[in-house]
Amino acid sequence: MLALMNYIDGQFVPAASGQTLEDINPATGQRIATIPRSEHQDVEQAAHAAKTAQPEWNALSLEQRADWLDLIADALQAKHEAIAQAESLDTGKPISLARRVDASRSVENFRFFANFGRQQTPLTFEMDDAINLVHRNGLGVVGLITPWNLPLYLMSWKVAPALLMGNAIVAKPSEMTPLTANILAETLHELELPKGVFNLVHGLGPEVGQAILEHPIINGISFTGGTATGRIVAATAAPMFKKLSLELGGKNATIVLEDADLDKAVQGAVRAAFTNSGQVCLCGSRLMLHSSIAEAFLERFVAEVKSMRIGDPKEDLTQIGTVISMEHLAKVESYIKLAVDEGGEILTGGTRDMVGQIGPTAEGAYLAPTVISGLSHLSRCATEEIFGPVVTVHTFDTLEEATTMANATEYGLAGSIWTQDLEVGQALAQTIDTGIVWINTWLHRDLRTPFGGVKHSGVGREGGQWSLGFFSETTNICVMGPNKNDA
Ligand code: NDP
Repeated sequence: MLALMNYIDGQFVPAASGQTLEDINPATGQRIATIPRSEHQDVEQAAHAAKTAQPEWNALSLEQRADWLDLIADALQAKHEAIAQAESLDTGKPISLARRVDASRSVENFRFFANFGRQQTPLTFEMDDAINLVHRNGLGVVGLITPWNLPLYLMSWKVAPALLMGNAIVAKPSEMTPLTANILAETLHELELPKGVFNLVHGLGPEVGQAILEHPIINGISFTGGTATGRIVAATAAPMFKKLSLELGGKNATIVLEDADLDKAVQGAVRAAFTNSGQVCLCGSRLMLHSSIAEAFLERFVAEVKSMRIGDPKEDLTQIGTVISMEHLAKVESYIKLAVDEGGEILTGGTRDMVGQIGPTAEGAYLAPTVISGLSHLSRCATEEIFGPVVTVHTFDTLEEATTMANATEYGLAGSIWTQDLEVGQALAQTIDTGIVWINTWLHRDLRTPFGGVKHSGVGREGGQWSLGFFSETTNICVMGPNKNDA
């Protein structure tokens, strides 16, 4: 069994208290590793190491830091398979998904921000008699707190732009998925990234996470996680005037109009609903069908879902692995019970029974992908984030009705619309209160675009310019005088 360490000031060290936590494989219930149960004294050391290292890191040119990101991307690329294996082991997600999405995107995040950084040009505003020169410096020390569903994918999405803009980092992964954050720390150590620039502290959210939020040296927090935790993050950090980026939960609609190409829409809706067992913040967990095509669509959709191969995450052919833990499984199952109590009809799934058995065990947190119809779009199952392989089905007759239903939740992260009329699709997209709408696709990402939610799905945007803006302090120097253009 692995004994993971914190990575503080260029060294792998245990928690100051010596305490540890266990990391469990959700597919077998077996222990994979122990991790340090860090607390405020560990964050104290990490924050001071980061503060000491940051000025020198910030003094490098953007080009030099972009070169570092490329080195990191190269080194992670060489570990692509190891990252995928670790991610699958920690989360129970299928190895094919971990390869295609988690490992690949983790490398791509560093590569993208390296190239994007090099494309930046100085921002200036000329006046008749003066010139304004806009400067962007690192914020200083930033705290990065990330969830378990896409562990390195989401951590690297923050680490790459934070490093690029000259920040030093104190990062905390979910205690349920520490393996790939450790691979990242090992990689940075092997590359001899200046010590203290990247620090990793493992442990529980309310302990080490809270200590990061409260630490006065840490002056920016980028958080991805649930909306309830986001409230705690905001309540703690806002009075300290920390810069905050909150990427929170979602309850996203997949809207299928009457003219949709049903083959493509069914494939897209299945992918949107059940990728990573529905544990992606962008997952389409509410299926909204025009009443004229609802029956035909559902017949194909349910057949497709029934044919999905559930099983051992290690097997190449597995399409659905486990959810993150037995505790989370119980939470998801409680929503399925609630749906039945509220009069919902389970069209498929809803049980731990397996289809296409390739070796799941009784200890594994397996749940068959579940489709529920007959619930009001205002029911709890249709408005609260379940974050599991569960989709509810609703029908509408008019576009106005589709908009009303899609907007009837406190969340506003993403959604997709399926139609052959792109004008209608775009007009409808603008009426949906979400940060992202895809038309005839789902989770098709250009990393230059703004990413984030409205309403209770988040505050702020990351991606491209928005990430560079968040991870920097923008200042203006106004130069007056005859030689202003030489400034
Ligand atoms: P949580 O909010 O439970 O946890 C997120 C992170 O915050 C974890 O590292 C957690 O640590 C930590 N944390 C918990 N309590 C505190 C605290 N008091 N102070 C500081 N940190 C704390 O989310 P989950 O890990 O359960 O992830 C699932 C959620 O993330 C879903 O709601 C999903 O929609 C959302 N999400 C949003 C995305 C987006 O981009 N908008 C992307 C991906 C997921 P620990 O694990 O140790 O408790």
